[in-house]
Amino acid sequence: MAIVISAAQLKIIYDHAENIYPEECCGVLLGKIHKLDRTVVEVIPTVNAWAKSELVDDLSIVNEIARTKHTRYTIAPQDIFQAQKRGRDLQLEIIGFFHSHPDYPAIPSTCDRSQAWEVYSYPIVSVINAKVSDLKSWVLDRNGEFQPEEIQIIIH
Ligand SMILES: [Zn+2]
Repeated sequence: MAIVISAAQLKIIYDHAENIYPEECCGVLLGKIHKLDRTVVEVIPTVNAWAKSELVDDLSIVNEIARTKHTRYTIAPQDIFQAQKRGRDLQLEIIGFFHSHPDYPAIPSTCDRSQAWEVYSYPIVSVINAKVSDLKSWVLDRNGEFQPEEIQIIIH
């Protein structure tokens, strides 16, 4: 059971993570599932919609969102819809969602757990001082706990 990703695809994720720092970046992974391996074919960086995910007119909530945008991410439904559509066009499926942890280890948070689904891979990039320092990928087991997933990097 592994996620297979190319060095070029990883660079897209790393660049996105460093550009968005100190906020959390996120995005969709399109690819193919063969047996238990998920092979990434296309990386789609998306906007972290967390700040726009609530309709707010209350300043205290706005401040709360400003504080939490580096620890939470939400991919907007329209971005997921676009990714699904692109996947259909290319005969690919959504195989996972990546996001970054600014100045924090690449370990899933309780928030990550609460929005995860068993069928997807969840690569997390740790970005320390605006530089990518670690990558780990996670999948849910049958008990709903995150387990590390092997990452196979293809150079081409
Ligand atoms: Zn997270």
